[in-house]
Amino acid sequence: MNIVVCIKQVPETTEVRVDPETNALIREGVASIINPVDENAIEAALQLREAHGGTVTVITMGPPQAEEALRQALAMGADEAILLSDPASRGSDTLATSYGLAQMVRKIGEVDLILCGKQAIDGDTGQVGPGLAERLGIPQVTFAIELSVEDGKLRAKRVLDDFFEVLEVKLPAVVTVVKQANDPRHPSMRNVLKAKRAEIATWTLADLEADPRQSGFDGSPTQVIRVWPPEKRSGGKKIEGTSEEVAEELAQAIKEMDIAAG
Ligand SMILES: Cc1cc2nc3c(=O)[nH]c(=O)nc-3n(C[C@H](O)[C@H](O)[C@H](O)COP(=O)(O)OP(=O)(O)OC[C@H]3O[C@@H](n4cnc5c(N)ncnc54)[C@H](O)[C@@H]3O)c2cc1C
Repeated sequence: MNIVVCIKQVPETTEVRVDPETNALIREGVASIINPVDENAIEAALQLREAHGGTVTVITMGPPQAEEALRQALAMGADEAILLSDPASRGSDTLATSYGLAQMVRKIGEVDLILCGKQAIDGDTGQVGPGLAERLGIPQVTFAIELSVEDGKLRAKRVLDDFFEVLEVKLPAVVTVVKQANDPRHPSMRNVLKAKRAEIATWTLADLEADPRQSGFDGSPTQVIRVWPPEKRSGGKKIEGTSEEVAEELAQAIKEMDIAAG
């Protein structure tokens, strides 16, 4: 089976800085990694390939340096990697990103399954996987923790707030994977060296015959009004002593905050 895994390169930090004029993330000077849950999507793909044969192709849409994330995926064991990098993609919101990825999948051709992470740690919308399924007009399963394939059908266990759900869908389909799905493998030194030398195909929007009106700023209806980092919380207070002393001091503190009533 031919599996495509969508991965995103994200800043390796939770200390996100925002340009106050453009409302865009400041990525300069921040090291980048594969979006962590995308490694779980790669691992899920590799396990399915081990069970059923076929190929795992990793794709990303991003700036030229996103190639580094693709090399990490190749080192984990993916067969091929493709980067969509085009200055005209700059400013793409989730609608335009899912369009670009859908065009990539169409160009790849025979694809049985597309895996994404549940959400990216920077943009954090969780919209790209479902958007991609809509663009391609194929079924989608989100928040998958277990996956198996039999007779051209995919069975997926989904994690919801307080229950699991098991779904069966026809392939091809898009599945978004959660962190608890597996433990991503560590690449061997041999694979890391091989991945460093590997060919990575780089496509532009023209290669995909993509409509420029659906890409970049023109294809992105999302208006970011304002983005700001959360305020730093003060340290809080640690109460120490016997259980009685702690309970008494806590009760007193609650009284002083005037939140006990009601
Ligand atoms: C108005 C606007 C302008 C923006 N401009 C820029 C910009 O100039 N440069 C920039 O880098 N970002 C930009 N972004 C952010 C970018 O559009 C989003 O990061 C991207 O659309 C993915 O959304 P997300 O991070 O919420 O991913 P989610 O939907 O949370 O991601 C879910 C999963 O989808 C897959 N995925 C997500 N993004 C990609 C990708 N690019 N390639 C492959 N797979 C992917 C991964 O598997 C990921 O785990 C902009 C966003 C907005 C709203």
